[in-house]
Amino acid sequence: MTGYADRPWLKHFTEEQRQDVEHPPSVLHSFLDAAGRVPDHQALRYFDGALGYRELDDLSDGLARHLVARGFAPGDRLAVMLQNVPQFVVAVLAAWRAGGTVVPVNPMYRQGELAHILQDAGVAAIVCSESAWHDYVRATAAGSPVRIALTASEFDLQTRDDPRVLTATRRPADDARDLLAAARAGGPAYDAVLPAADDTALISYTSGTSGRPKGARNTHGNLSFNAHRQIRIQALGDDAVVFALAPVFHITGMVCQLSAALAAGHTLALAYRFEPGVVLDAFREHRPAYTVGPSTAFMALLARPDATAADFASFRLISSGGAPLPPAVVEAFRSRTGGLYLANGYGLTECSAPCASVPPGSEAPVDPVSGTLAVGVPGPGTMVRILDDAGAEVPFGTQGEIAVTGPMVVPGYWNRPEESAAALPGGELLTGDIGFMDEDGWLYVVDRKKDMINASGFKVWPREVEDVLYTHPAVREAAVVGVPDAYRGESVKAYVSLRPGADADPAEIVAYCKERLAAYKYPREVEVLGDLPKTATGKILRRELKAQAG
Ligand code: AMP
Repeated sequence: MTGYADRPWLKHFTEEQRQDVEHPPSVLHSFLDAAGRVPDHQALRYFDGALGYRELDDLSDGLARHLVARGFAPGDRLAVMLQNVPQFVVAVLAAWRAGGTVVPVNPMYRQGELAHILQDAGVAAIVCSESAWHDYVRATAAGSPVRIALTASEFDLQTRDDPRVLTATRRPADDARDLLAAARAGGPAYDAVLPAADDTALISYTSGTSGRPKGARNTHGNLSFNAHRQIRIQALGDDAVVFALAPVFHITGMVCQLSAALAAGHTLALAYRFEPGVVLDAFREHRPAYTVGPSTAFMALLARPDATAADFASFRLISSGGAPLPPAVVEAFRSRTGGLYLANGYGLTECSAPCASVPPGSEAPVDPVSGTLAVGVPGPGTMVRILDDAGAEVPFGTQGEIAVTGPMVVPGYWNRPEESAAALPGGELLTGDIGFMDEDGWLYVVDRKKDMINASGFKVWPREVEDVLYTHPAVREAAVVGVPDAYRGESVKAYVSLRPGADADPAEIVAYCKERLAAYKYPREVEVLGDLPKTATGKILRRELKAQAG
């Protein structure tokens, strides 16, 4: 009998791809190596501006000195609360150079969420936008351990010629260069010891498998392994431009875009925040070879009437990750882009972005019974098992909890020994996702364990119902939740938004699902909304809809 230990997924990789991924202890090592190798190559692009590797090296060194001069010490935490802007990258590299840990913070967080993170992570320094600083960060930081604050406009690098201003009040960019140049000339040299693989690179806040937001401790080794694994498997070529569709403050953007691009000596193109029209312009301008974003971003791009196949012609690979990908979206994307395959990928903050993806050249199968699209196969060096409630492996094809081991799995949460022990027994990550694996090693994610709907004792997985809704011609986005029901305990309710110009009657959508799903699964009620609530990282917020319904 074969089992997970036989790693049936390895057959999808070439002999070379299966070899251990050689990677330095940190992405910073690789970046500095790239800066020495290709100093004149563009490291970053931001609208009309660009920064070369040498410049990025100098600026991040300057900021590291500036921080150290103001008391930032090895092991200290720097919160970076910015959108996809060059300053984000400079700040991350600076923190790592000074021996610190980065705490990426979603810039859309409000006071309460930010206060929790500043306290919980014991943040010593923060970089944010000038407007956020004046709006509420200053007040929030006042009651926190923060000792050093910098606004992005104090090192405003690239936005001076661009009408899309980054901050409310801007100084001439030369001031910014002065600040960093002065620090570089006069600041104390910091201890130039590079990070060790076990040092904490990031504290990434996530609601994780359950409960209140907690900080996953992504080590430098976690990031370096996943970045180099991606570089090896993608083989994009030296001049590749990687477009940051996902926010770099989230783990997918941080690892698959920022870390992989800078470790490979590629060019990372940033465009502030996701706005479909701006993204299409950026594709036309930067001609990226690769990007990754949540499926909802691709749905939004497909909804743009002006998106043409030519806009996507430069892509060699394009991935959807971080949220369920309905098979109907893959096909819509293929026909709209002239044949481009949207490759699924699965991961969590706790495994430093992907732990399974579709190998280049392959296409993920769709399970004939449930209609679920596979998320990919585990990468070489990764172990995935499917476990029952007692922690025993279930046979291939049987549903259970997905458990992951590998060099990209975090050692634990920041200052949470009990939650770490519960989520990572013996170092194996219990993901809280229900899934199954077929005999060829393709992994299928059924849904989040906690999102299961119990209708009269029947288990309904929202994603399966959503997949059917996405095949309806009028539906743009769909979210399915359980709502209280006096008779069934819970019943299935769907929220949808419609394609531009489309019109649909909720009763007709109910009937459409009824024809295609078992009697206990089809939504008893469909409500049409203008837009569905989403996280900044593009995940549709079922829990918000559930609260609204309940
Ligand atoms: P995060 O930690 O924010 O990256 O969220 C991780 C969660 O996103 C996982 O536990 C899954 O529930 C979900 N997820 C990520 N990728 C996929 C995918 N390809 N298909 C379905 N769910 C996904």
